Amino acid sequence: MRNCRSRTKSFKLLLRDRSADYNGSELSYEFVSIRVHSWLNAARGEMKIETLAVHAGHAIDPATGAVSAPIYLSTTFERDIEGTYSRGFMYTRNNNPNREALEHGVSAIEGGEAAAAFGSGTAAAMALFQALAPGDHVLAHVDAYYGTSRLLREIFLRWGLQADFIDMSNLDEVKKALRPQTKLAWTETPSNPLLKIVDLAAVAEIGHSANALCVCDNTWAPVLQRPFELGADLILHSTTKYFGGHCDVAGGIIIAKKESEFFQHIRGIQYSGGAVPSPFDCWLILRGMRTLPWRMRAHSENAMKIAEFLAQHRKVACVHYPGLSSHPGHEIARRQMSIPSTKAPTTAGRQEKLFGGMLSFEVKDGRDAAMSVAANTKIFTRATSLGGVESLIEHRASIEGAGTTSPEGLLRLSIGLENADDLIEDLDQALG
Ligand code: PLP
Repeated sequence: MRNCRSRTKSFKLLLRDRSADYNGSELSYEFVSIRVHSWLNAARGEMKIETLAVHAGHAIDPATGAVSAPIYLSTTFERDIEGTYSRGFMYTRNNNPNREALEHGVSAIEGGEAAAAFGSGTAAAMALFQALAPGDHVLAHVDAYYGTSRLLREIFLRWGLQADFIDMSNLDEVKKALRPQTKLAWTETPSNPLLKIVDLAAVAEIGHSANALCVCDNTWAPVLQRPFELGADLILHSTTKYFGGHCDVAGGIIIAKKESEFFQHIRGIQYSGGAVPSPFDCWLILRGMRTLPWRMRAHSENAMKIAEFLAQHRKVACVHYPGLSSHPGHEIARRQMSIPSTKAPTTAGRQEKLFGGMLSFEVKDGRDAAMSVAANTKIFTRATSLGGVESLIEHRASIEGAGTTSPEGLLRLSIGLENADDLIEDLDQALG
């Protein structure tokens, strides 16, 4: 603790020193940001996740002392007399100070070496698949986000990738599906919308035994789940969700555990392809990140209470929530979703067991009954997406359309930050 405090103090001094130096305009934003980020890199291992979330990617503006970073709208940056770009930025599609800050911040939170931000989670997934070569084989979770499966099926199969969709909660299926051409094992846990739990460490090990990379779409459990510590090589987030946290910005990001040739390829696709987020989007997502650990804690506590309420309701056939001991993936989720490595204690000093803010449940009387529940909620809004402060309810089968594998009686809930008692009362009256 003392160590962490003294580092925090030196961090502030470092920032002050840097801005003082900048008065003589000898130091560029880039220089200051590199110094701050390299300090953060050194301190990462010692900081707790709440502290990292507040500080990673942020620096006092060297020119003005602004505590909240400016938004750099400039699309182009001045070139030095000798033709170089010593301040590190040339053209905003290639890089931008806000994007760089976001990439540094999210890599620090996930414990990776590098990150590439995109205009949506789907654009990030596109770049990942585009970084593969025709003939490469992808193993994907059968219950992966339907937009990701659609990308593979409708776009990348035509471009020569091969893909198999398997239930990754069954490790024998994963082993059997490996081929000599398998380059990527795409995991998503908890999955969407059935909240299936994949044993990340086991899938990564199986993938690595075949020289395949393991990617984890960690959109549903940021902070709670530490995929790099469990063996994943790459992490994907739709930052539209919990990172942004307020349903007002779209974004996606890929984080690499290690800088690698494959990641450089993704980086190349990012700036050559140009599916990049705007500076304002980056700023909003980085601002959202500052409260992410505390929001995840509150989302999870609310979701647990609501799952328990629904599990005993006479009109509910089943509840899919990994925090319930009846959930088939509960034991794995306890191991891999409980922030052990962040050493985050509860206010009571115990290690927390948190299972995220997403859950789904099936009503006993099928589609019409489910639609009627969604029609009658007053606090829950009928809308797609997730991860915002407001609670949402969604009938997945009808939004996914033809080819959906979601049960007709299933409703998905994104549990927000309202009081859990009000949410329970709302569901109770809607269930009738
Ligand atoms: N991954 C998961 C798990 C998601 O839930 C979503 C969207 O719902 C995405 C990826 C796609 O993200 P975006 O909507 O930002 O493209």
